[in-house]
Amino acid sequence: MRNRFLAETYRHQTTNALGSAAKKIGDPELINLSIGDPDFVTPQEIIDEAFVQAGEGHTKYTKPSGDPQLVTAIRGFLKEEYQAHVEQDEIMVTVGACHAMYVAMSAILDEGDEVIVPDPYFVPYSDQVTMAGGKFVPLETSFEEGFQLDLDALEKKITSRTKAILINSPNNPTGAVYGRETLERLGKIAQKHSLIVLSDEVYEAISFGQKHVSVLEIADLKDRSIVFGSFSKSYAMTGWRIGYAIAPEYVIATMVHINESICFSAPSVSQRAALSALRQRHALQPSLVAAFEERMVYGYRRIVATGTLDVLRPKGGIYLFVDIRKTKLGSEAFAARLLAEKKVLVLPGNVFGEAGEGFVRIAVTVDLQKLKIAFDRIEEFIKTTGD
Ligand code: PMP
Repeated sequence: MRNRFLAETYRHQTTNALGSAAKKIGDPELINLSIGDPDFVTPQEIIDEAFVQAGEGHTKYTKPSGDPQLVTAIRGFLKEEYQAHVEQDEIMVTVGACHAMYVAMSAILDEGDEVIVPDPYFVPYSDQVTMAGGKFVPLETSFEEGFQLDLDALEKKITSRTKAILINSPNNPTGAVYGRETLERLGKIAQKHSLIVLSDEVYEAISFGQKHVSVLEIADLKDRSIVFGSFSKSYAMTGWRIGYAIAPEYVIATMVHINESICFSAPSVSQRAALSALRQRHALQPSLVAAFEERMVYGYRRIVATGTLDVLRPKGGIYLFVDIRKTKLGSEAFAARLLAEKKVLVLPGNVFGEAGEGFVRIAVTVDLQKLKIAFDRIEEFIKTTGD
């Protein structure tokens, strides 16, 4: 009965995979490696500064494009890190990167415009594209190819309706990291077909061994890209909800216009906390990144040591996308049984797109001690699978 009050579009939909996983939490023995919300609490220095800033009156709306001091600090960061020259009106501060992505898609997509997205992909992308009126076009990537972009296959997917390609490096869920050469070739394709590149770089700081390459460094992409950044993972600030978009001025102006009817501005005190994070980044970030790297390398070793499971060597991000095909279980059966029999919650790879079947995603969001227990349980579990 209540159904009829809902829009037709949403009447028969259930929550997405991340939402459903969240509902299973509560059992104290459960080790939750599902959602990408790490156990780290925001560094105390940032929290203290946020208190001070709230007391000093940063409790009101900010400029719709963001607190000017934060925008200036983001520009400084981009220059220092990527030698990128970004103007004040080419940045918009948002309520996390997810908000930035949705508003950006709303700004660029007309009904039926196609967006090509490497599959497996971060779950919200598909809804974001369709909610903004676009058509989601998955581009398969494979473990065998290191989940890298197949640029020839990409070109074959381009039609007269293709508007954008959405990339994510370091990648959630696969862990793939795109090198400069890939991005340069992508830049040529984007030029040739007049495409926008949406580049989700929320894990840029969490790169191991090699420095992250931003599309802002690629000459062909600079004027045709929308880059998404976030404070969520790189400063342990998921709940403060601060992200940003970097785009040509006319795109930012349109995004700001759209967002004036959604939430007007990002939370002011959170923006001051983000400013404090940027100012202290050299002191605060290395230990956080090192902790993620230690966990990723530990997980990698444990997975490879099973002889049954496999995974890419970690290069960045906080996810291990584990090849479970030798267990002869499908993604969902593996995840369901692991949860029921061993109380370890991972996400089935197929929720990240068809190309994710045969994989499960492990988020290294718990400490090494808990990870050890989780991998001991996984090891016991896989002994009961296969033939
Ligand atoms: N992009 C990717 C690839 C992510 O994994 C996440 C968070 N899990 C986001 C965007 C969203 O980040 P935020 O918290 O800034 O909205």
